[in-house]
Amino acid sequence: MRPIQKLFFIIITSIILISCSNSKYYTVKKGDTLYSISQKRNISVSELKEINKLENNLLYSGQKVYLKSSKNYKGSYHTVSSGDTLYSISKKYNVNVDRLKKINDLKSNTLYRGDKIYLGKMVNKGDLNYNSSSTITYKSNSKNPVLKNFGKPLKKMVVNSPYGYRDHPVLGRKILHTGVDLKAYMNTPVYSPHSGVVTYAGWMNGYGKIVIIDNGNNYETRFAHLNRILVKKGQKVKKGKVIAKSGKTGRVTGPHLHYEIRYKKQPLNPMKL
Ligand SMILES: [Zn+2]
Repeated sequence: MRPIQKLFFIIITSIILISCSNSKYYTVKKGDTLYSISQKRNISVSELKEINKLENNLLYSGQKVYLKSSKNYKGSYHTVSSGDTLYSISKKYNVNVDRLKKINDLKSNTLYRGDKIYLGKMVNKGDLNYNSSSTITYKSNSKNPVLKNFGKPLKKMVVNSPYGYRDHPVLGRKILHTGVDLKAYMNTPVYSPHSGVVTYAGWMNGYGKIVIIDNGNNYETRFAHLNRILVKKGQKVKKGKVIAKSGKTGRVTGPHLHYEIRYKKQPLNPMKL
């Protein structure tokens, strides 16, 4: 090899090596499984599934499996050290144990040293902490005169399921969750978070018993899966009025309050006003 060729060879090899070690994705070869990739690239199967939005473990040759998430992805992990339990991790990061088990696909509470425990999507600055199983301090940062005045639909706000795309627990596919599911036992009082006029009070497909309130300026709030409706269509309501009692009507797996805020009929994230 002439020196110039040698130099080229070295440069090209270095480029390949650098790009491999830093590569954002792994190209699936025959025989690869999520587990084998997770071992090779030191990343957990649940992380891979989360980053790649995989709904199952099936891979095909040539498929690009991303190893790092995009910039706006705020996932984070805890590496298990001795003495850690799901409970201690749950306390440390304020994520509940059931959620940790669910997002990490854990069948038991046994953890192994060195395991990466995915903590779920961490909240952005300014967001409300929906990972928390504790009470949420609901305070709008909005300068918008309507949003600014939004109060809470429940006295105690605990998010069971956030707004956004998710695997629908009943339908079994990804759909936009147009609201937020708040923890609510049967017959928990539901308050109107803002003044307005009731535009709908009754049954709606999927929503079960629902109340829709027109809050003015093109804003609308929806409260679904109710057990009892305490207002009528056309009724004016003030902020803080009890409009319903929570329940489990419609397409649900258990009692909770589905809460939506819409602007010009388009859903907004109620936890990110
Ligand atoms: Zn919901």
